[in-house]
Amino acid sequence: MASEMVIVKRSKIGLGLFATTDIPKGSRIIQYTGTRILKNDTAKHKGRYLFTLNDKWTIDGKSRTNLARYVNHSCRPNAETITTMSKIWVVAKRKIKAGEEITYNYGKEYFNQFIKPIGCKCVKCNSTA
Ligand SMILES: [Zn+2]
Repeated sequence: MASEMVIVKRSKIGLGLFATTDIPKGSRIIQYTGTRILKNDTAKHKGRYLFTLNDKWTIDGKSRTNLARYVNHSCRPNAETITTMSKIWVVAKRKIKAGEEITYNYGKEYFNQFIKPIGCKCVKCNSTA
């Protein structure tokens, strides 16, 4: 789903999603879209873009039309995800300024599996620079 509030651009750690305009706190920035698969079948859909919807369903957001997949992890994020009416939204946790990269916390499970082994590159973890 396209959104006029964001654009995909190169960030420090590959592609990221950036605000093109000031985004007020609480705004729904973008929807995390994809194919709905039964949670029990997720073993067949390996990848980094699986997003748990509820006890039964998982969304496989690997499609490039799912711009929300470009949102990078941060340990001090400016956005968060909420699930309402079986839809996953990336929502501004605070006011986000135009040009800022949008991030949310991917959660412990993902962090330990994919990020910890290579080291987190988020602003908080790299603040020594
Ligand atoms: Zn971090």
